[in-house]
Amino acid sequence: MRILLVEDDDLIGSGVEAGLHHAGFAVDWAQDGHQAKLALETTDYALVVLDLGLPRVPGTELLKWLRGGGKDVPVLVLTAKGTVADKVGGLEAGADDYLGKPFDLTELIARCRALLRRSQGRSVEILRYRALAVDPVAQTVLRDDVRVPLTAREWAVLLQLLTHQGVPQSRSRLEESLYGWHEEVESNAIEVHISNLRKKLGADLIKTVRGIGYVVERA
Ligand code: CA
Repeated sequence: MRILLVEDDDLIGSGVEAGLHHAGFAVDWAQDGHQAKLALETTDYALVVLDLGLPRVPGTELLKWLRGGGKDVPVLVLTAKGTVADKVGGLEAGADDYLGKPFDLTELIARCRALLRRSQGRSVEILRYRALAVDPVAQTVLRDDVRVPLTAREWAVLLQLLTHQGVPQSRSRLEESLYGWHEEVESNAIEVHISNLRKKLGADLIKTVRGIGYVVERA
């Protein structure tokens, strides 16, 4: 799942980016309100983590623009303005949750997961595919009711394939689900993740489509 992080502070931004990434999300980090707006216009995000004090377009304005345009992506507001009035203002502008700085990274990730669970609970619960039961929010996979441990990146590749059954996914499309803007793409990484997924979940789960990429056939 892809998250947009909007934060102008280098130290906080890089910490949150690394934490979310480690938790298995692809993260795009926008460092001002204008950059965030462009990203939101061109990319579908599962969640936005938004600082309110931003250069160019302030966070509250960005939030109003987002909600005014009918986008219902969940937004977790992150700010030093921790007073009750600011908090109420942020929630009224359309934030789904609020975390005051300084915050604990573990709590931020737990709240992101809770928001995703709430927003996805409407349409996606447990994804079943043959012997697999996949929980997209808790990021767990059961094979014949036995939990199979996956790395964050194996998980991201699997989810991309399972949510596009019957539609071959190119290597670059799979890489997009793994890497945010600032990350170097490792060569051969996709092949390695596919090979590990086949070992863990069954050799026939993921088919190679010559010259195109990989596919999980329709159940
Ligand atoms: Ca700020």
